[in-house]
Amino acid sequence: MKKIFLPLIMLAVFETVAITLWLTQNNIFYLFNFSYIGMSVSFSIFLFIKKYTDARRFAQILVGLYMLVYLGFICGENMQIEGFWYYLFTGMFEAATIHYAVAKIIGPLFFGRGWCGYACWTAMVLDFLPYKISETPRKKIAWIRYITFAISLIFVSALFLAHVGNIEKIMFWAFIIGNILYYAVGIILALVFKDNRAFCKYICPVTIFLKPMSYFSLLRIKCDKSKCISCGKCKSVCPMEVDVTDNSRKRKNGTECILCFTCVKNCPKNAL
Ligand code: SF4
Ligand code: SF4
Ligand code: SF4
Repeated sequence: MKKIFLPLIMLAVFETVAITLWLTQNNIFYLFNFSYIGMSVSFSIFLFIKKYTDARRFAQILVGLYMLVYLGFICGENMQIEGFWYYLFTGMFEAATIHYAVAKIIGPLFFGRGWCGYACWTAMVLDFLPYKISETPRKKIAWIRYITFAISLIFVSALFLAHVGNIEKIMFWAFIIGNILYYAVGIILALVFKDNRAFCKYICPVTIFLKPMSYFSLLRIKCDKSKCISCGKCKSVCPMEVDVTDNSRKRKNGTECILCFTCVKNCPKNAL
C-alpha cells in the first residue's frame, strides 16, 4: 500500500488539474491531456519504486513524444518558448500557455524541475547519448541562456510589431526549425563537453523560468546528515552536478536538480 501512495498522490494532482481545466475551460482536451501525462508520470514513479532501472526514461519518452509529435507536429501547436510568448501576446489560453504555466512556472513550486527529468522532449533525446555524467569540469557559460531567452522573446515580439501576416503558420515552422536547432546544438555540445546535459546547463532558455521557481520547490531531495558518511558518491553520479548533501536552498547549483533520483539509488547509506 505504501508503495503505491506516492504514484496515487501524483495521479490525484494531475487529475485535479485535468478536471478543473476541463470544467472551467469547457474543453475535454484538458481532461485527456493531463490524465495521460499524470498516468505516465505516476506509472513511472511506481516502476521506480519497484526498482525498474529505466523508470524515468519511460515517462520521459511517453510524455516527450506526446508533446512533440501529437501536440506539436499533429495538432500544430508551438510548444516551445516561442509558442508560449505567441499565445501570451494573443491572449489565447492554448495548450502551450497551460503547458508553461503548469510545467514550468507554477508547477516547479511543487515539483521543482521534474519537467526536466521526466517530460522534456529535448532531454528525452539527449539522455540517449553516452555521457550521462559530465566528463569535463563545469563551464562558466551559463549566461548564454539569457541570450537565447531574449532571442525567443524578441523574435515573437518582432512578428507582432511588424504586423506580419499568418503568424500561426510561422509559429508552426518555428517549432519545427527550433526543435531541429535544439537537437543539433544539444547533441554537438554533449559530444564536445562530454556531457549529455550541457544544453540544459548552458543554453536552454526555459531555465530562466524553471530555476527561480524551483528554488522554492516543496519536493526536494534531502540528506539525512546522521546517516551520511561523506563518500561523495551522490555528486559523482549526478547528471547536473548538484551537491545534494547540502540541504540549504542556497547551495551551489541548488536549482539544478531534475529529481532523477540517481543519487538516491546510489547512496550506500540510504541517507537521501
Ligand atoms: S533544461 Fe531545458 S532542455 Fe533541459 S530538460 Fe529542462 S527544459 Fe528540457
Ligand atoms: S552518497 Fe549518501 S553517504 Fe555518500 S555523500 Fe552522498 S548522501 Fe552521503
Ligand atoms: S542525481 Fe540527485 S541531485 Fe542530481 S539531479 Fe538527480 S535527483 Fe537531483
